[in-house]
Amino acid sequence: MVKSIVVVGANLAGGRSVEALRKIGFDGRITLIGDEPWRPYERPPLSKEVLWEPGKSTQKVFLHSEDWYQTNRVDLRLGARAVKLDLAAGGVRLSDGELITAERFLLATGARARLLPLSGANAPNVHHLRTKDEADALAKDLYPGARIVVIGMGVIGSEVAASAHKIGCEVFAVEPAAAVMIRAVGERFGHWLAEKHRIKGIHVRFGVSPLALRQQGGEVRAVELSNGESIDCDAVVVGIGIVPATELAAGAGLIVDNGIVVDRSSRTSHMNVFAAGDVANQPGFFGGLVRLETYQNAADQAAAAAESMLGLTVDYFKPAWFWSDQYDLNIQGVGRLDDSLSIVVRGDLKYDDFSAFFLNGNVVEGVLTVNRAFETGIGKRLVERRISVNPAALADPMTDLRDLLKIKSDVA
Ligand code: ADP
Repeated sequence: MVKSIVVVGANLAGGRSVEALRKIGFDGRITLIGDEPWRPYERPPLSKEVLWEPGKSTQKVFLHSEDWYQTNRVDLRLGARAVKLDLAAGGVRLSDGELITAERFLLATGARARLLPLSGANAPNVHHLRTKDEADALAKDLYPGARIVVIGMGVIGSEVAASAHKIGCEVFAVEPAAAVMIRAVGERFGHWLAEKHRIKGIHVRFGVSPLALRQQGGEVRAVELSNGESIDCDAVVVGIGIVPATELAAGAGLIVDNGIVVDRSSRTSHMNVFAAGDVANQPGFFGGLVRLETYQNAADQAAAAAESMLGLTVDYFKPAWFWSDQYDLNIQGVGRLDDSLSIVVRGDLKYDDFSAFFLNGNVVEGVLTVNRAFETGIGKRLVERRISVNPAALADPMTDLRDLLKIKSDVA
């Protein structure tokens, strides 16, 4: 019987794992360590409500009330930095020297925003968006009429551009690739979405990189681009990806390769150490190892890790699922949204109301829904069960998608 567990990372994965431990009935000692001053919170609002209505939404982001941790006997160590996973000593060492021992460890150390490798990137009006404090700082610089340059039009850049537009900022964006959110939605729908930003009035430069940040009085006042242009600005937002926080794992000799390598039970290369969320590199639904940077994965993999740490049999193996809200678009993606697959569209791209199915032969490997959340659930099941479909039936608006689930899948 396991008697003590330490979770490093007081984020969504950390919060969900301790919640799951108590739900399953674990009665032992739980310590949750986080270096931020905040108890676990949700990140999706940071690029949206927290920017539009700072102050008002601040209290709404937390996963649990303050009392919850006491009631559930979770020893919450905030503002505490874990500097070493000392397996020989059987504990996690904090920066003040304290050793917190346990029998099982969950590393939910997440990731850090990739920093822009340019001089001036640490100026107070250059924002990276990962934490609540960073969102609060960015919110102060987004006001009607402010000139904002967004660097990187991935998921974060696109959501921030939409939020800044909603606030009334004049938004410029720089993206070295040919479209927006290509890593998430592929190139074809990246072009579709780029057009949405253009219509809203976002000035996006594609195929262009930032070369220099021009400073004045300690703040960045212009961004110089590879196309020779210089864009004057009041603030800059950088959304160029994240880097997994693997230091503790690497220091303890665990296998690290683009994240902490885990198996389908969230176990690392050490039998008492588990990892979940953005930092975990896990067996991918379509093969290989994948590191998923999604809300759903952080929540579900952390709950699976909780079961695993208690010795229950776990097989966590799911296709990725993400969503993004921009303007009046709810975008959801499941599985592989890969341009090399054949694409069948239901609905109409013109009216921002469609689902796109990505087929490998006749097998559904990915689904993208736009303002069709009601088709995401079925899409997920089609992908999870590797269902073979008739493409014509799929495209036919008269087909009830639920009927396709009854068709035999390619795997038992
Ligand atoms: P995030 O979660 O930060 O949005 P994504 O991977 O979805 O991460 O998007 C990152 C975006 O940043 C991509 O569109 C990529 O082309 C762009 N990008 C990467 N490096 C740079 C850079 N040095 N300058 C500008 N854009 C960049």
